[in-house]
Amino acid sequence: MTKKIVVLGSLNVDSIMKMPRMPLVGETMALTNVTTAPGGKGANQAVAAARQGADVSFIGAIGNDANGQFMRATLVNNGVNVDQLKTNGDVPTGSAFIMLQDDGANTILIHGGANQALTTADLDHDLIIDADLIIAQFEVPYAVILAAFELAHNHHVQTVLNPAPAVYELTPELMAVTDIILPNETEAQLLTGIEVVNDEGVLNRVTDALQAKGAKRSIITLGAAGSFVADGQRRWWAQPEKVVAQDTTAAGDTFIGTLASVIASDFSNLDDAVKRASIASAIAVTRPGAIPSIPTFDEVEAYS
Ligand code: ATP
Repeated sequence: MTKKIVVLGSLNVDSIMKMPRMPLVGETMALTNVTTAPGGKGANQAVAAARQGADVSFIGAIGNDANGQFMRATLVNNGVNVDQLKTNGDVPTGSAFIMLQDDGANTILIHGGANQALTTADLDHDLIIDADLIIAQFEVPYAVILAAFELAHNHHVQTVLNPAPAVYELTPELMAVTDIILPNETEAQLLTGIEVVNDEGVLNRVTDALQAKGAKRSIITLGAAGSFVADGQRRWWAQPEKVVAQDTTAAGDTFIGTLASVIASDFSNLDDAVKRASIASAIAVTRPGAIPSIPTFDEVEAYS
């Protein structure tokens, strides 16, 4: 049976500005190029799960503007149900301004806009309790995530938390209703206060710290070093697929959307789900861009 997934999250239009270097304060400087692309962790994760064949519905908000229409069309074109995507006429659609220097360094400014204006009134209760699984990130207000996860948990809907960016605490209330948490190494460091390095002893300590906050299961994604998985005291380092990376944007989002699309309700296939998520994200890093780089079910099958 097709898995029903709700993504509660953000939609951003990314403006990628290529520049030789960062301008000085007060300076006027010409950009080398500007491109626009659909983004936002919520949108990326929804597309990743949909391309793996899940039945995905989105809960979120856009502004009453061209960027909002662009994001709505992006979700629709990828088969994501947008019946619960709200239009908020008071604020613009979320946006990200990515300043990409010639040396590859990037600096990002984000305006939450409609994502940050989301309220608990925007949560469609029937959609959530009818789902198999809900995913959220930290780009929408904490109170909305907590309310959605409490509702989901009370109705035996699996809850997957990507605490990105790490702007909220992992509170006992939120952890009590979260089945699995997936931070990347930077987020894991910010959330636990422990410097994350690719060392099994350190990763066990970080995992212990996440569990002390109430996390039942965790996957710390480590970029080209793979991921460190924990289901209680059962822990392992999942090796990455060997690929030549071209652009790692949306690697984490592809990992999460893919994992969500295949994970069993009791997490009994966690090893296989992580393996499939590692393959999907490895494929994504071999291709440029965010959403365009996310592989389909058949592409992951062909690689496996
Ligand atoms: P992003 O913010 O760019 O979406 P992230 O920081 O959230 O990414 P990462 O930890 O960089 O997420 O990557 C997620 C997963 O993608 C890793 O756990 C790994 O399985 C896979 N991955 C990332 N980079 C590579 C790589 N160079 N080679 C193979 N697999 C990779």
